[in-house]
Amino acid sequence: MMKEVRVRFAPSPTGALHIGGVRTALYNFLLARKYNGKMLLRIEDTDQNRFVPGAEEYIIESLAWAGIEIDEGVSKGGPYAPYRQSDRKGIYQKYAQQLLDEGKAYYAFDTEQELESMRERLKAQGSSDQQYSSVTRMQMKNSLTLQESEVKQKLESGEHFVIRLNVPANLEIKLNDLIRGEVRVNSSQVDDKVLMKSDGMPTYHLANVVDDYLMKISHVIRGEEWLPSAPLHVLLYRFFGWEKEMPQFAHLPLLLKADGNGKLSKRDADKAGFPIFPLNWTDPKTKEFSKGFRENGYLPEALLNFLAFLGWNPGTEQEIFSMKEMIDAFTLERIGKAGAKFDIHKAQWFNQQYLRAKTDEQLAQYLFDSLKKEKIECPDEKAIKICIAMKERVTFPRDFWEYGKFFFVAPTQFDEQLIAKKWNDDTVKFLTAYKEELKGKSIIDAENAKSLLEKTSILTEIASGKIMQMLRVALTGGASGPDLMMTMEIIGKDESVSRISYALENFKVKVS
Ligand code: GLU
Repeated sequence: MMKEVRVRFAPSPTGALHIGGVRTALYNFLLARKYNGKMLLRIEDTDQNRFVPGAEEYIIESLAWAGIEIDEGVSKGGPYAPYRQSDRKGIYQKYAQQLLDEGKAYYAFDTEQELESMRERLKAQGSSDQQYSSVTRMQMKNSLTLQESEVKQKLESGEHFVIRLNVPANLEIKLNDLIRGEVRVNSSQVDDKVLMKSDGMPTYHLANVVDDYLMKISHVIRGEEWLPSAPLHVLLYRFFGWEKEMPQFAHLPLLLKADGNGKLSKRDADKAGFPIFPLNWTDPKTKEFSKGFRENGYLPEALLNFLAFLGWNPGTEQEIFSMKEMIDAFTLERIGKAGAKFDIHKAQWFNQQYLRAKTDEQLAQYLFDSLKKEKIECPDEKAIKICIAMKERVTFPRDFWEYGKFFFVAPTQFDEQLIAKKWNDDTVKFLTAYKEELKGKSIIDAENAKSLLEKTSILTEIASGKIMQMLRVALTGGASGPDLMMTMEIIGKDESVSRISYALENFKVKVS
């Protein structure tokens, strides 16, 4: 029988969740759902120096917004609670003690200064490796080099100590990464990592391995930056005698800048003007504010669809995936090793596709949200017409208002360059006649606005194609936009006439 799939997203609350973290959470979630397994949220807050207030709440809210559901975890509880590492201190102490008792770990009393002088000494000797390890540990101040009584005395007197892993020399460590294949490392390259710090807190490595074991994690799916730590984790599983229960590893490819040149950073995103965090975030220390994907108008379904493709592909041409389709199609085998280019235009494309798939009533709701802020009233029928007209042109929900303001208020700014080029005697003649035709009607719809246009063309002997752009500038201010006849139907006859009159009075014919 296949082991129950139990995966975890294990962020450290050191600030806002990076969008790459959302992708990691998504891949974990997809695997859990595909195999009817469990998705855990574990907060890895053992590094008290990097703790940022509000970060844990932010992570929980981000996942909830994105639609990544948690089955067990800090926000949920569950059979392996607590799920916050700072609440599990006693557990790690017990396991560290086990390693100490078995000689697989030792106490080290070296001060910062002593560590520094070790590094200096090794550097001076020309050694390329200045680590605390099987090579150097016997020259240091630890329970392997000091007399037992001395160690006892130090511990009893409350002297600061750490617990280090006693990494044997020249041992082959092998792991089979589901994405990268076999990874082999010689233990001589692994240093005697600190497992317990002087503040009584475990380090990430110990806490991570102990928790994955106790929480019965089947797959560890995490970012590539953790790959160098994986051999150490394998060694810990071996030392604890948990090799049979060891989870499978899958280290996800990096997120790269759009041009593939280096890792995607917050700085790059800021410079290019796109978000890097799922939700708005104000750094509590620096007060720096960052706008989130949510507040920028990205739909969570579209964002997840975009993120799914950053590293994974279904092996077909299909790009739009509902959550259910994504769960069905997802496999770890189809995640590549190569870094994934983060192209915000692709995220925008997904957002457009998801917006277009909404019903007109749903789209109208977005417009109403903006209108409410502007304190503008609008009948349902008009809002729906606007949304139908604009649908193909919007990327974000707010665009219905941003690009459709002219449906509610007459433009005050006009494309001057275009006017200078295209406003001429013929335009004046045509629009003057067209205005008179319109005035003769009580109301207009798109169809009769068009037939009047054709009639005016015959009367004036001027092709309507020649004046269309100027008609658009007169009505909307800009050079492009939704169907013009439909625009006239929506803004109505009187308003259309008034805007054309304004143009006739104010746009100047270029004197040649
Ligand atoms: N706490 C680690 C992080 O912040 C988790 C790494 C892992 O998933 O093992 O990314």
